[in-house]
Amino acid sequence: MMKQSAAKGKATDDEWHPAPVPETSSLTTLREAARGCRACPLYKNATQTVFGEGPKKAAMMLLGEQPGDQEDLSGKPFIGPAGQLLDRALEEAGIDRNAVYVTNTVKHFKWEPRGKRRIHQKPSSRDIAACRPWMEAELRVVRPGVLVCLGSTAAQALFGSSFRVTKERGKVLESEFAPRVVPTVHPSSLLRQPDEESRRREYALFVEDLRVALRASTAK
Ligand code: SF4
Repeated sequence: MMKQSAAKGKATDDEWHPAPVPETSSLTTLREAARGCRACPLYKNATQTVFGEGPKKAAMMLLGEQPGDQEDLSGKPFIGPAGQLLDRALEEAGIDRNAVYVTNTVKHFKWEPRGKRRIHQKPSSRDIAACRPWMEAELRVVRPGVLVCLGSTAAQALFGSSFRVTKERGKVLESEFAPRVVPTVHPSSLLRQPDEESRRREYALFVEDLRVALRASTAK
């Protein structure tokens, strides 16, 4: 059931802890454990944990920010408007979404009410730090050859808060988490473009970044 309202009162500092991740190489066990995670206050107003999905041995992992409204209700990552745009861009770049592991930096939907709508709120650095062990566990188990960071929350979780996606997008970078990391924008930013021309331009750039990631995933 969707929860109808934001919790009253301010969260206190002791509500954030590193998520308790079991020692396992099973994605199913991780997903089950994440279902009951209470390591930060975000679970209180969300419907459910939205864990990553995809093949265990995927060569490519896509890392977004957090689930949105539709993802929260369905329990699946990237199925709403931004996810549909992502699917289209993946197909155009020659990437099979079913062969890719798709997840988010934060696993619960953070939102605030506006009328009857639930409006996305950016996760805080404390939310991201608390949820980080789940992302690290997914990376440890899947071990993708290339990790695509969709948007600044994902990229900054890997490279630090001074990282600028606008400057680094489409480059192949190294990190301790994956041999190759390609940062790009979040597909939701394409939906926020002010006019058709900029939408088209930004979409083409996004597809090009995904092509870079595809080439990086097959490079020796
Ligand atoms: S957002 Fe992450 S750390 Fe916070 S409760 Fe959900 S799964 Fe746990």
